[in-house]
Amino acid sequence: MGKATGFMEYKREVPADRLPLERINDWKEFHLHLSEDKQMIQGARCMDCGIPFCHSGILINGAASGCPINNVIPEWNDLIYKGLWEEALKRLLKTNNFPEFTGRVCPAPCEGACTVGINDPQVTIKNNECNIIDRAFANGLIKPAPPTSRTGKTVAVVGSGPAGLACADQLNKLGHTVTVYERADRIGGLLMYGIPNMKIDKEEVVQRRVNLMAEEGIEFITSTEVGKDCSSEELLEKHDALVLCGGATKPRDLPVEGREFSGIHFAMDFLGANTKSLLDGKETPDFISAKNKNVVIIGGGDTGTDCVATSLRHGAKSITQLEIMPMAPLERASDNPWPQWPKIYKMDYGQEEAAAVFGKDPRSFCITTKKFASDTSGQVKEVHTIDVNWEKDAQGRFIPKEIPGTEKVIAADLVILAMGFLGPDDLLLNDLGIERDARSNAKADYGSFKTNTPKVFTAGDMRRGQSLVVWAINEGRGAAAACDQFLMTI
Ligand SMILES: Cc1cc2nc3c(=O)[nH]c(=O)nc-3n(C[C@H](O)[C@H](O)[C@H](O)COP(=O)(O)OP(=O)(O)OC[C@H]3O[C@@H](n4cnc5c(N)ncnc54)[C@H](O)[C@@H]3O)c2cc1C
Ligand code: SF4
Repeated sequence: MGKATGFMEYKREVPADRLPLERINDWKEFHLHLSEDKQMIQGARCMDCGIPFCHSGILINGAASGCPINNVIPEWNDLIYKGLWEEALKRLLKTNNFPEFTGRVCPAPCEGACTVGINDPQVTIKNNECNIIDRAFANGLIKPAPPTSRTGKTVAVVGSGPAGLACADQLNKLGHTVTVYERADRIGGLLMYGIPNMKIDKEEVVQRRVNLMAEEGIEFITSTEVGKDCSSEELLEKHDALVLCGGATKPRDLPVEGREFSGIHFAMDFLGANTKSLLDGKETPDFISAKNKNVVIIGGGDTGTDCVATSLRHGAKSITQLEIMPMAPLERASDNPWPQWPKIYKMDYGQEEAAAVFGKDPRSFCITTKKFASDTSGQVKEVHTIDVNWEKDAQGRFIPKEIPGTEKVIAADLVILAMGFLGPDDLLLNDLGIERDARSNAKADYGSFKTNTPKVFTAGDMRRGQSLVVWAINEGRGAAAACDQFLMTI
């Protein structure tokens, strides 16, 4: 433990973000770093608890508590405080293949479980993590490290999101020969074409890691959809094992009157085409512009927030975000105690930016969409809504009950549906005859990651449903370990 009294002496300090009114003029990352001295002091706030809940990574009521990849947080907090950055890096890389991803986009369930957080602001774990890896890259400490020998076994990983990348990285380090197949034209899954650039830079952060992995011997094949552009049977014949990490981005639709009008799009179509246009340096044919439009985003979660921030950067005329759930409380409710994930109201970066431009949080809570109306050409013009109350039904389940007299009409030229995801695409799983679980995800037990089809494993959102980057890394690593065990027996 670096400083026994650090948590009493020092206050939590996070770097100031770039100012909302400045950052909405570009697509650059908005988080900044603290100076080295200040970050070292943040490391001193760690109490090095006897039982460090921050790295436990367990599920409580369906939400993560502690770090899902079991980062040995107290160890590197201590090393940071002592200025031993290279040692901290070694500890961090033992559990996390891509700290530069999680250090930017992880919602940090570790901090929700930090013991200091019981009665004081928690340790800045996520920023500490990001600093360790960013300093390492800046100081040239991250170099390609290909395996010294090869096993002669080959694996195809389908899908290049964080699960596929973590799996490929682990298998390659063990000496297996890995090929990653990706249907998009760039590697990275939702790190590339989901989460917007201002949260994680595509060229400087995502592609930098992909280049490193390629230098370490992993082959990446893009613009190839397995099951369509190349047969999965062929892949099975060619390789000793397959790991399916295809994600779960089948969107939830809103089947109300007027859904067919033009100007109503799924969030992923809006966000994906936006990032591709940015990276290609020109608008793609499927680019959806929010410029000078009244934008209504249906869904108050993180994907909706990314749509708010993207619409602002296009120059939207107005932005409204509709959420059917009630607003979260300002502090933990009594049924949501530490070390659970804190379900509290927060203004995320997109809402902060919208508030700076339009003067208020764009979200309305406890509201549902009844129908869409259009002009004579079939272009959406209005969203008709009604407020709801969450009440218990006869079985004791909470259901939204409409409140008569609260009907509203919101002007809309662009409607974005960001209401979550239903599961993985069918093509690949059907092609390989993979059994599904009750939620239509690929069926495989956590730990074995084995599907019903011989030689085929699965991990990430494709197995657990839409989740988090850190869980995808956890699953990719787990599937690699299971696959390695299998490979070494054949
Ligand atoms: C808009 C948005 C924002 C998000 N923001 C965050 C965030 O800030 N923090 C966070 O922790 N999580 C966030 N998430 C969730 C997180 O991105 C996912 O949980 C994570 O990326 C899942 O990783 P994965 O590797 O399982 O799948 P994905 O990242 O979805 O990658 C799957 C890849 O497989 C490819 N693929 C699918 N089928 C085939 C096939 N047949 N052949 C070849 N390739 C195929 C897909 O093209 C895709 O590239 C966000 C999700 C969305 C949608
Ligand atoms: S990966 Fe996420 S949960 Fe784990 S230490 Fe980093 S920020 Fe915390």
